[in-house]
Amino acid sequence: MHLTHLACTACNKEHDAAVPQNVCTACGKPLFAHYDLVAAAKTLTKESLRTREKSLWRYREVLPVKNPTDIVTLGEGWTPLLPAPRLGAKHGLSRLFIKDEAQNPTASFKARGMTAAVSMAKQYGLKKLAAPSAGNAAGALAAYAARAGMEAHLFMPRDTPKANIIECEQMGAHVTLINGLITDCGAEVAKRKVAEGWFDVSTLKEPYRAEGKKTLGYELAEQLNWTLPDVILYPTGGGTGLVGMWKAFDEMERMGWIDAKRPRMYSVQAEGCQPIVRAFTQGDKFAAEHLGAHTRASGLRVPKAIGDFIMLNALRQSGGGAIAISDEQMITCTKEVGSTEGVFTAPEGGACYAALKTLLAANQVKPDDTVVIFNTSTGLKYLECYGG
Ligand SMILES: *Cc1c(COP(=O)(O)O)cnc(C)c1O
Ligand SMILES: [Zn+2]
Repeated sequence: MHLTHLACTACNKEHDAAVPQNVCTACGKPLFAHYDLVAAAKTLTKESLRTREKSLWRYREVLPVKNPTDIVTLGEGWTPLLPAPRLGAKHGLSRLFIKDEAQNPTASFKARGMTAAVSMAKQYGLKKLAAPSAGNAAGALAAYAARAGMEAHLFMPRDTPKANIIECEQMGAHVTLINGLITDCGAEVAKRKVAEGWFDVSTLKEPYRAEGKKTLGYELAEQLNWTLPDVILYPTGGGTGLVGMWKAFDEMERMGWIDAKRPRMYSVQAEGCQPIVRAFTQGDKFAAEHLGAHTRASGLRVPKAIGDFIMLNALRQSGGGAIAISDEQMITCTKEVGSTEGVFTAPEGGACYAALKTLLAANQVKPDDTVVIFNTSTGLKYLECYGG
């Protein structure tokens, strides 16, 4: 509601938020939304939140949509932060939580980004949206575009989990399967978008998906009674959620809600696709493309991310790190989480628990730390991974 302008995350160049924008027109890096936080904090207060709707639009003052009638919603956000006492007790952890993002529309946290991006597309009067996707972003875009009466043109790798492809088709999207990876799908969108009149809503090549996902940071703080966890384990592909949360923490500090202390942020990736882990380990500012990327955790099969430097900066500033997990570990850990806590996670969620074990083995998590692992989707969308 109090959006003022967009600015480049690399060179700071300002961009007009009154018209649709993709990346920085000067350097090609992602744009971030900026708000008048003084104005926002006048009505968005901890007290006011107590009676608001149980969706991410409860934080509307720090979300970009100007007019509430443009909001395209399916009831996304405000997912449970589930205590995981039985899983925690196995490791002597007294405060372990699972942020269960499977409880979003389309059963993944991609709904958060797409509700914001599609609402803004409606505000701008756009009619045809396009995106490359590893699966869940496509499902979410298909749903929100259908709800807004817009066309969705989706490009996915041919071996994307079947559930993702079927859900897109059933929601009336135009689906193209590509023999290649998400990067090849992105190239296809880039090649055709001008001639087709599509607006490109690729991760971080459009400024508002990150705004929707940043609400993860607001929710964590609110659900933990305005404190932040000590450790966050987040399965990272394009990185929108990670950089979105980091941005949210900054906004909350500037509104006087939290102090300067930040959680140690850990990026969890797959052994077969770990560009951020490699760059973090090598001390690089940018992450080189992971060649020959492969993993069953399709959400993590992102060999090159445009927001790499923003993620790496957040991991380093937070005192966190980056951890790669094998596909076998993810699958084993999914069963352990499911049979211990009753949450059938996506392999990406299993990966976060596996990464927690890695940190525990290295003594990097203390028994009294408040730890949050993200389950970003449901195992039900990945039956192929579990022998289905
Ligand atoms: C997209 C996706 C991710 C990666 O999320 P980013 O915010 O793009 O890094 C992780 N898990 C699942 C299930 C996903 O669909
Ligand atoms: Zn720039």
